[in-house]
Amino acid sequence: MTGFDFPPPAMPPGVDGLRAEVREFVADSQAAEGWRADSDFGSDWSASFSRALGARGWIGMTWPRQYGGHERSALERYVVIEELLAAGAPVYAHWVADRQSGPLLLRFGSEAQRRAILPRIAAGACYFAIGMSEPDSGSDLASVRTRAVRTGEGWRIDGTKVWTSNAHRSHYMIALCRTGPAGDSRHEGLSQFLIDLEGDGVRVSPIVNLAGKHDFNECVFEDVTIPADRLIGEEGDGWRQVTGELALERSGPERILSTFHLLAALVHAAGPEPEPRLAEAIGRLTAELYALRAMSLAVAGQLERGALPEVEAAIVKDMGTRFEAEVAETLRRALPLEPVSGDGGTANAPSLEAALGATLLGLPSFTLRGGTNEILRSIIARGLGVR
Ligand SMILES: Cc1cc2nc3c(=O)[nH]c(=O)nc-3n(C[C@H](O)[C@H](O)[C@H](O)COP(=O)(O)OP(=O)(O)OC[C@H]3O[C@@H](n4cnc5c(N)ncnc54)[C@H](O)[C@@H]3O)c2cc1C
Repeated sequence: MTGFDFPPPAMPPGVDGLRAEVREFVADSQAAEGWRADSDFGSDWSASFSRALGARGWIGMTWPRQYGGHERSALERYVVIEELLAAGAPVYAHWVADRQSGPLLLRFGSEAQRRAILPRIAAGACYFAIGMSEPDSGSDLASVRTRAVRTGEGWRIDGTKVWTSNAHRSHYMIALCRTGPAGDSRHEGLSQFLIDLEGDGVRVSPIVNLAGKHDFNECVFEDVTIPADRLIGEEGDGWRQVTGELALERSGPERILSTFHLLAALVHAAGPEPEPRLAEAIGRLTAELYALRAMSLAVAGQLERGALPEVEAAIVKDMGTRFEAEVAETLRRALPLEPVSGDGGTANAPSLEAALGATLLGLPSFTLRGGTNEILRSIIARGLGVR
């Protein structure tokens, strides 16, 4: 069957209470720790915040208890992460591990891998980097050239990964490597490995981004030997595994809320009786956000039922990241302010000029990280049967 479906999920009982709990937790945390609110999930890294969140049971929420999880539903998890993002909490440290590395290990990892790692992630104490992109391989992941070769005791890894967010402050990377011939489909012969980023032969060097921040890195692997039990899932099954991981990466509220703090600021600046042009802009953005949220929630509902809605996730990310840019652009046109880069405002809240400045520098990356919009559209076209 071709097409897509966004069935509205039935929210589990008690989510309003959960939402209120998260709001209170976040407000207390900000008052105590003084972090600067920014709804872009990649804006701020705080190990102490991640640990506190883990202690509340809000990381690994859906995982079985035996692995440190809490057996809550994907929709309850959605409510928690939506609240964290809307409040601009510093979620970056545990984000990738909670969103995709943990679920990947739960689905494909060995029992030993699950027992060793999932409880640490759920405690907010173990962080992951994604090792997909390479210098000559970004959109076309099937062309990765990092090789893993069997040795007597395990595997030897050689190659280079780029744009690896947070590899300099994460414990592990899950790396997609070539372990055999690509075959006619080009999707054979790929496998995923758990690599210790502190291990011998691993060299992590910074790549400073447009905003002057060190978030991503180049990771060079030279004769890195890892034990046999670091293979994740089946040898040669990497393509199927990585595709499933990407569905988790693309559909969450972080793909529609990166500029939510600017939208909230726009509403605040407009006041209770905004002039008609501003009221129209706010109304349009709010309606778009409402629809996108319904779509993103529908994907969470499908994930809850065990499906991996790749096409729907691609649609959410394509439309969501364009919406994020539209919010910044609307704010820039609507209000008489000059974006500035660097600090500005109070300890807890950047000035609107500083928030807009930071967003404008980060904006080009929103439609790239997690797969470009052109690639997402080709996934959607295939899903619709028109390609
Ligand atoms: C902030 C940020 C964080 C990132 N973090 C990570 C990370 O942690 N781990 C990781 O592995 N990667 C990460 N990436 C890399 C990201 O996944 C890649 O940048 C992305 O997949 C695109 O790959 P590329 O940069 O090699 O561009 P290319 O693949 O070279 O693409 C260049 C341009 O050509 C277009 N294009 C390419 N192929 C086609 C096609 N078949 N049809 C139409 N158009 C096409 C693309 O859409 C793009 O506009 C990150 C990127 C950013 C911006």
